[in-house]
Amino acid sequence: MPDIAQLARLNEIDLAVDALKARLREIAEGLREPAALIDARQAAADAEAALQRARAVQRDRELAQQEAAARLKRSEEKLYSSQARSSRQVESEQLDVQQLRNQLADVEERLLEAMLAADAAAQQQAASAAELVALTEAWQARQAALTREQAELKAQAPALLGRQAAARKAVAPAMLAVYDNLRPRRGGRAVAHIDGDECSACKVAIPPSKLAEVRDGAALVYCGNCGRLLWEG
Ligand SMILES: [Zn+2]
Repeated sequence: MPDIAQLARLNEIDLAVDALKARLREIAEGLREPAALIDARQAAADAEAALQRARAVQRDRELAQQEAAARLKRSEEKLYSSQARSSRQVESEQLDVQQLRNQLADVEERLLEAMLAADAAAQQQAASAAELVALTEAWQARQAALTREQAELKAQAPALLGRQAAARKAVAPAMLAVYDNLRPRRGGRAVAHIDGDECSACKVAIPPSKLAEVRDGAALVYCGNCGRLLWEG
């Protein structure tokens, strides 16, 4: 008489082993660094480089501003000195001063632009750095949780595999062959218990004659719809 109950028990253990292995695969996948974090790290590095460039431009323009201011100061000192010279010379000096004032105004405008650009770059850098910190912290927390779960599952595995081996030994080889052939083709569930008068796996009603065969227990009975072994558990 086929002991379908032992097969049903083996099937539950096999499904638990399948679930454990699937979860371990998911965890291994989940432990890979997320693309968003890799992108955020690159964005933070780019923002930092852009800030350094903007600050270098600002420093260059500060120097240019200092030099232009010094040139103007020298020119003004010359113009307003009490040294005697021709009116033509004075006129030329006045032109120089005017030109240098215009140059200084240009340089100062460019310096202001560089300062604004450096401020914007600093804000961008701060935002990118904060985003990177937040994503890193979230990732570390997730990584810790996954690593914990992975360790727990790996600790459970030997006992579960031991139960699986024992459950297989309890089933006659001929039935095991039927089961091993059927299970992969039925999404891991080869044995379905009867729920009322339905197959619990596919929810289709089992005809009374078939129910009687299952109760008789003399032979293996298959669900006419999904092809699983039926048992009245
Ligand atoms: Zn079925």
